[in-house]
Amino acid sequence: MKVAVILPAAGLGTRMHRAGSPSTASASLAETSGTSRKQFMLLEGAPILVHTVRKFAASPLVQDIVVAVREEDIEWVESMLAKEGRGLMGTLRVVAGGNTRQESVENALAALDPNTDIVAVHDAVRPFVDLETIHRVIEEAETTGAAIVGIVPVDTVKQVSGAQAGGARVRGTISRERLVLAQTPQVFRYDILRRAHQAARRDGFSGTDEASLVERLDQVEITVVLGSERNIKITRPADMDLARLFFEQEAARR
Ligand code: C5P
Repeated sequence: MKVAVILPAAGLGTRMHRAGSPSTASASLAETSGTSRKQFMLLEGAPILVHTVRKFAASPLVQDIVVAVREEDIEWVESMLAKEGRGLMGTLRVVAGGNTRQESVENALAALDPNTDIVAVHDAVRPFVDLETIHRVIEEAETTGAAIVGIVPVDTVKQVSGAQAGGARVRGTISRERLVLAQTPQVFRYDILRRAHQAARRDGFSGTDEASLVERLDQVEITVVLGSERNIKITRPADMDLARLFFEQEAARR
């Protein structure tokens, strides 16, 4: 089975509220170019994207990795990642992303070797995914065609009307027993993911993950593999504090 990994990393990180300043040194360019791009923030000396790439490059199941970044970042990200792909059987490539996560994944998908059997999509800003989870979800997708990593919610979930940010009114409670919080990796047979993206484009549908596109196809059922609370998506400023703690713990276990 030829397995490729897509890492969308072309986001602007607008929820990080962090001003950037121009710099030429590659490490600090990594951290400060753009406004507040979490995928390039440094975690123990290396950009978060590099930590994420290392997780997949360490997997014997993975042949190719395609990273989608903003057009203007392709060159320096390519040189930053040059040595990270050495352990791979296939290639590590950097392509131009798009204006949405969905477009970034679509562009990376178009760049894949057409002989790819399985595609795993993973947020570049989730560097704490563990090898065992990567393997479990890939193996599940090889069997079923479509599998995602999810965790069960601990909070009670309310449906509201009005602005989420304040002034929302509770309209109901969604039973926790039937909810799963979708993480990544989300893994699909190549033809299924291609079809899902084509259909979404045709219908003008946009989703915040791949599963929401694949769910729209007939006769494809997506299975859930239980993941870990440590597989956080570094999104808001406080997430970096947690990320530092997790990184220290990971380093101590190595
Ligand atoms: O924006 P969100 O938090 O959903 O981002 C999840 C992942 O998608 C991040 O790694 C981000 O860099 C990526 N992304 C992208 N292209 C965009 C927007 C987000 O590759 N246009």
